[in-house]
Amino acid sequence: MRRLRDSRPGSAVSLPAVGTLVNEPAYAELVKLYGREQVVEAIRKQIAAEREGETGEGAREDAVAARLRALVAPRLQRVINATGVILHTNLGRAPLARAALDALAVAGGYSNLELDLETGKRGERAALVSDLLMALFGCDAAVVVNNNAAAVLLALTALAKGKEVIVSRGQLVEIGGSFRMPDVMRLSGARMVEVGTTNRTRASDYEQAITPRTAALLRVHTSNFRVTGFTESATLADLSAITRRHGLLLIDDLGSGAAEPVGDEPTVAESLAQSDVVTFSGDKLLGGPQAGIVLGRGEGGVEAVRKMSRHPLARAMRIDKLTLAALEATSRLRLTGHADDLPVERMLRAPVEDVRRRAAMWSVKLAERGVETRLVEGSSAVGGGSLPEHGVATILLAITGPASRLSNALRHGDPPVIARIEKDECCLDPRTVQKGEDETLIDAVERAARNIQR
Ligand SMILES: *Cc1c(COP(=O)(O)O)cnc(C)c1O
Repeated sequence: MRRLRDSRPGSAVSLPAVGTLVNEPAYAELVKLYGREQVVEAIRKQIAAEREGETGEGAREDAVAARLRALVAPRLQRVINATGVILHTNLGRAPLARAALDALAVAGGYSNLELDLETGKRGERAALVSDLLMALFGCDAAVVVNNNAAAVLLALTALAKGKEVIVSRGQLVEIGGSFRMPDVMRLSGARMVEVGTTNRTRASDYEQAITPRTAALLRVHTSNFRVTGFTESATLADLSAITRRHGLLLIDDLGSGAAEPVGDEPTVAESLAQSDVVTFSGDKLLGGPQAGIVLGRGEGGVEAVRKMSRHPLARAMRIDKLTLAALEATSRLRLTGHADDLPVERMLRAPVEDVRRRAAMWSVKLAERGVETRLVEGSSAVGGGSLPEHGVATILLAITGPASRLSNALRHGDPPVIARIEKDECCLDPRTVQKGEDETLIDAVERAARNIQR
């Protein structure tokens, strides 16, 4: 049992007092529900709050009960994404397809995760999805880890530890959440050799930096920014020619991993045509669960993926069964021509006229309930560090009223609705609102508008 501290600064009440309080009949029910230790802790916090001048209304035991309820209330909640950002990092990136959600339920029970049902022998969990990925992307090897950050770290560790990896200074990116290429490189034990400048790196810069200790050339897709103006960078084909000439590996950290062309985002197929090893995220443009996908092409790629799979780090980074199930279902949808079942694809490709019709329908329904709105032209964003300059034309529904109060009220609603403030108006983008959420959203907007009038 945890020892209770009584010397804490600000702990105004001596322990015996709390220890006695908790025995009062008013707390008996709470003790039964939450256990004595939790109730003591809640009483202590409540008394400390009271000493800080927080004078609530009502009895102390009600405040204590509220604290305990808040402690166990579900934290992860469904929200309606009306921001228009398709891969919204704060909202969980790609929403899963129905088939992927169903697969989660299967994997949640007992499953043949590592059992070959044919032979009754131990199977390979990775094999459940690597064949599908190889077929989907037409490559020669595949391995999946926890996320793309792990995939890059594993690639550098397994393939280049103690050796040199050449990378352009224009690609030393930071991806949100402290993924910085130079840090990852240091962690892997590979020595990073920087070439070129922030805005210009030529193929010859790479070639001149090659030494007998060079293991690979690394290209990092500058996912979340673009350098414009006086720029130059070696193409993947240039890098491929160099690595072939010198018998080196070409590793491409693709980031988003577009399975289909979107804007100027490099596709997985384009990358595979030149690289030995390609890595990308499962929950960006692929539209699946969080995962790091590693594909290998040609002899070098196959050998590289084999080394990565057998590296001890791969075990530490392996994906769990729920992810595996969702990824398998996602890959199968794409492989069988059902990419349209993936919410990410649907949102990306929804014609602006469909979005307009939906916005107009919401507008009419809201008007009937006394909420005034207007349609404005705008732009949805791909997000997730993809295509920073590539907006998708959309139609926004701007709600008449004080923008920040409206968006706060929406966020505090049930379910929470995350809106976007644009030009001082609280806007809803139908593009990222999922099928079947329309009525819930309209109700939520009506409630929020009414709440701020009070
Ligand atoms: C997003 C991204 C990563 C990190 O991927 P996670 O799946 O979030 O770990 C790494 N590299 C690039 C280029 C990216 O765009």
